[in-house]
Amino acid sequence: MILNQVFDEINIGLVILDRDMKVQKWNRWMELHSGFGADRIVGSSIFDYFPDLNNKKFHRSCKSVFSFGNCCFFSQKLHHYLFPFKSSGYIDSGFEYMQQSCSMGPLRDENNVIQYLFIHVQDVTEVALYEQKLVDMNLKDGLTGIYNRRFMEVKLREEFDRCRRYNRDFSIIMFDIDHFKNVNDEYGHQCGDFILKSISSRVLSIIRNVDYLFRYGGEEFCCLLPETQMNNAFIVAERFRTAIMAMENDYAGSIVKVTISLGVAGMDKDIDSSDNMVKMADDALYKAKREGRNRALIMG
Ligand code: GH3
Ligand code: MG
Ligand code: MG
Repeated sequence: MILNQVFDEINIGLVILDRDMKVQKWNRWMELHSGFGADRIVGSSIFDYFPDLNNKKFHRSCKSVFSFGNCCFFSQKLHHYLFPFKSSGYIDSGFEYMQQSCSMGPLRDENNVIQYLFIHVQDVTEVALYEQKLVDMNLKDGLTGIYNRRFMEVKLREEFDRCRRYNRDFSIIMFDIDHFKNVNDEYGHQCGDFILKSISSRVLSIIRNVDYLFRYGGEEFCCLLPETQMNNAFIVAERFRTAIMAMENDYAGSIVKVTISLGVAGMDKDIDSSDNMVKMADDALYKAKREGRNRALIMG
């Protein structure tokens, strides 16, 4: 009686399955989150209600509990969840489903024979969200929300090594806002910040989702284009330039227009490191500055 109350009051999901995978127990927490009452699901195969569980990994785990009395864990990091429980509370978080940490283990009868297995389900969405936030803070720039320089160095080296090894193309575009100091001087630092954010989101809207955009420094950016030849990267650079030039940034009623200068570098047998590639793109960028700004140039 008391144990039954604990079973239903406890703030975790508890499920008991028999050897035929039929639900024997389904606590209140599982009812609340699944929308299936115990009166409905008890006696049915768990797979009738959760067909996604009918997979090799889950069967293997159940078998190891029943045959060897093992315990199995389904960590949130690897599986995200066992039971797909949607909840409106998580929609903005980037997690469509409740993130779960689950375990499974044997239940024995008085003769020490394993008759059932239990599954325990813990909602770890909050912890996962917090962790994701920390990871984001480490990789992303606080002002613009795009990737930061620290991550750029890691990603660029990784991509350089991969492309060198497999003889693949990749290119980078470095760009810098023209006379940005004037924007700060004329409209204030907050307006400058607003322009940095606007440019970041405009460029993000142009690139493919396999490309990366980094804030390299104050008003300098770098875009990494995997599997892209330098000539095509130049076309992308031109697209950035014309898009930024066309932007009518409305800051507190004033239209603030800016332009950018860009330098493009592509994977080449003469380039021996990712740092070298950044330097090539940077040199092209500064040449574009010298030649009058609001232009894109290719390295070399
Ligand atoms: P150029 O065309 O040669 O690039 O000229 P510029 O004025 O853009 O270049 P300069 O390097 O002289 O100035 C860069 C300016 O960018 C100065 C600095 O105050 C501003 N800046 C850097 N980071 C930020 C930031 O986070 N917010 C704002 N508002 N301004 C920034
Ligand atoms: Mg500048
Ligand atoms: Mg600069």
